[in-house]
Amino acid sequence: MWRTALLMSVVVSLVACDGKGPALKGDYPAVKLTDRVYVIHGINELPDRRNQGFINNPGFVLTSKGVVVVDPGSSVRIGEMVLAKISGVTKQPVIAVFNTHVHGDHWLGNQAIKAAYPKAVIYAHPNMKSKAPAAGAEWVGLLNRLTDGAVKGTEPVGPDTHVDHDEILKLGDRHFRIYHNGKAHTDGDVMIEVVEEKTMFLGDNVFAGRIGRMDDGHFAGNVAAIEMAMQSGASQFVPGHGPSNGRNILVGYRDYLRTLHDEVKRYYDQGLQDFEMKPKIAESLIRFQKWYGFDEQLGRHISLAYQQIQAESF
Ligand SMILES: [Zn+2]
Repeated sequence: MWRTALLMSVVVSLVACDGKGPALKGDYPAVKLTDRVYVIHGINELPDRRNQGFINNPGFVLTSKGVVVVDPGSSVRIGEMVLAKISGVTKQPVIAVFNTHVHGDHWLGNQAIKAAYPKAVIYAHPNMKSKAPAAGAEWVGLLNRLTDGAVKGTEPVGPDTHVDHDEILKLGDRHFRIYHNGKAHTDGDVMIEVVEEKTMFLGDNVFAGRIGRMDDGHFAGNVAAIEMAMQSGASQFVPGHGPSNGRNILVGYRDYLRTLHDEVKRYYDQGLQDFEMKPKIAESLIRFQKWYGFDEQLGRHISLAYQQIQAESF
């Protein structure tokens, strides 16, 4: 027994000395979507002390040459957890990483992947790549405040190279097709279709059971991006946050965004101010009321859509 206790105290002091936040508590299973595609679903909430900032959906794809990771999470610790899950499935190295967009809850885990596999190539859209250095520093600060230091020791490691719309990358024996449709959730989103697996990673162009932040986004552009994903050959989809599922998650989030946008436009044309239309729009969106963040985000979404419609009507 004392040996175990001694070992534990050595482990604890090792953890405390590496300058990183605490290891991730809780077990998050790697869910097998197909023989080659796995997803580790984070908690579908805002980052806080309890969830340690693990709120997104890191994925990994097995190819004949090695593993391809998508969005390894918001901290070095989460990136390490993703690596541990991968090693439970395969001994192959990580050869590539895709980052779906610039928000730090999706890509700050790059650090752990690069530390373990320096040759892994990190891909993102050019607009994501150019914004990553400034955004990364900002996100580390924000996440540390929200999680009470869970992302401590995380250093932003941005993408190495670009990918853009319609590119198809062959990595090992699998094809990764890239979709980008201008400004949607941000101006640098990519969606990644694993062609042979009929599976698509949507990034934050789709949230499932949750209302996403749209402060960097565009409502009509986000709707168009979702419709682009609907035209793909995929039949199962991994959202940026919330459970993976079939086309229903695309339809649900598109309908939320489109209804909100169209209702704001209708009342804008009638001369209403954003705060005047809010109760009416809440009524039109009643079926989305149970989605996480609905009450907090609705007013913000209405005023953002209002500004976009106003800007476009001149
Ligand atoms: Zn995002």
